[in-house]
Amino acid sequence: MSTLRLAIVGAGPAGIYAADILLKTERQFDVSIDLFEQLPAPYGLVRYGVAPDHPRIKGIITALREVLDTGRIRLFGNVLYGRDITLDDLKDHYHAVIFSTGAVRDAPLDIPGIDLPGSYGAADFVSWYDGHPDYPRERPLTAREVAVIGNGNVALDVARILAKHADDLLPTEIPANVYAGLKESPVTDVHVFGRRGPMQVKFTPLELRELGELDDVDMVVYEEDFEYDEASKLAIETNKQIMVIDRIFRAWRDQPQTGSSRRLHLHFFAKPLEVVGDDDGVSAFRYERTEPDGEGGVRGTGEIREVPVQAVYRAVGYFGSPLPGIPFDERRGVIPNREGQVIDDNDEPVNGVYATGWIKRGPVGLIGHTKSDAMETIRHLVNDQANWWSPEHPEESAVVELLRERGVEFTNLDGWHNLDEHELALGAAEGRTRIKVVPRDEMVRISNP
Ligand SMILES: Cc1cc2nc3c(=O)[nH]c(=O)nc-3n(C[C@H](O)[C@H](O)[C@H](O)COP(=O)(O)OP(=O)(O)OC[C@H]3O[C@@H](n4cnc5c(N)ncnc54)[C@H](O)[C@@H]3O)c2cc1C
Repeated sequence: MSTLRLAIVGAGPAGIYAADILLKTERQFDVSIDLFEQLPAPYGLVRYGVAPDHPRIKGIITALREVLDTGRIRLFGNVLYGRDITLDDLKDHYHAVIFSTGAVRDAPLDIPGIDLPGSYGAADFVSWYDGHPDYPRERPLTAREVAVIGNGNVALDVARILAKHADDLLPTEIPANVYAGLKESPVTDVHVFGRRGPMQVKFTPLELRELGELDDVDMVVYEEDFEYDEASKLAIETNKQIMVIDRIFRAWRDQPQTGSSRRLHLHFFAKPLEVVGDDDGVSAFRYERTEPDGEGGVRGTGEIREVPVQAVYRAVGYFGSPLPGIPFDERRGVIPNREGQVIDDNDEPVNGVYATGWIKRGPVGLIGHTKSDAMETIRHLVNDQANWWSPEHPEESAVVELLRERGVEFTNLDGWHNLDEHELALGAAEGRTRIKVVPRDEMVRISNP
């Protein structure tokens, strides 16, 4: 065999970096790569997760686009693995597949009331404000007081977008209905709750500091949360990131309230107990006050508190979804693998099947981490030639015919360029960088005129 025909499923950063690294890797064979993506647009969570007011991070798209534009990768957009194309189809047309399908669901939080109307997952809210085509466009933003559960960057994104005035988001690429929804929001107080102490947060300093820079939003922190135990003091002395975080909190603790129309409260040592309410909606968030346990963790104090809120957003992590025909670890929400080589229930390698990115490693880490991930996976793929599949129809035209025969309305790279230019033009007309097209059928129509 002189040409590896490779399918990559999922055109987020992990899949695109995998293609790029394979193309640049020294090897004894040619490669021909087809990238399948269920959405009509590539880039995964960089387009549909990263917050619209983080243009520098969204700018990673420029580097990803350069990879696609080398002309050495074919993109098949609007193709869902498991429905439009199956594992047997892939075995018939390729020597191997890499799954880079990420994680798009909210991890569960098992407390009473979590399913009440007015209690939402962060992933749903993020997908709404980032204009994901598969999420309802209408969102009731009627709460004056809101709880956000979680102490990672996604919790901060959610809290920031809720607290920020809609006009301050207008220069970004938010879709028109998102601006309209946020503009109507009567919110005055956004409360973020974390189980552990302020020195145990998973926020990064940059994202935390940004909260204090929002127009007409006062930061509120509570002095009782800042009686540091020995473990916290040690963390401040030995960890530069924690030291910076401590400095940010100090500034807020010293700062008087300015009478802004909105407030963003950070509560620590608060273990979620219950979303209080009834079929008409949420009325409060109940939590137990915790305290340091002396070993870097926390324990409950038995003191129960309640904060009146009319909406609750849980940002307690993302979770991967199983793929038909592919092993899945239900507990961790990932495809079980050894350094990217997928393994079965008996720990045996599954020939020809690899994984990379969040579906390989779990939903933690920044976009840059998916690059080192991809390097590891590609190293195994390249060294594993003896175990690849033997496809009956490896010619590049065969898969195109298959999708056409099935009536799959797929898009390609030219189609994505059409949609991209269309969105940029919509934005330019209003003095904005981009306005996203949201409905899937419209995305496909603009891609394939
Ligand atoms: C809310 C949020 C904000 C974030 N902000 C930042 C940030 O500011 N900076 C930063 O560095 N990182 C950020 N991250 C992390 C970053 O998004 C991830 O590290 C990265 O996107 C993971 O890449 P991935 O390719 O593994 O998955 P994804 O980006 O999720 O890409 C997976 C792709 O696979 C596709 N797919 C899934 N299933 C199928 C299927 N069955 N068939 C075909 N295609 C399929 C999906 O549509 C998607 O396009 C953020 C994450 C979230 C959730």
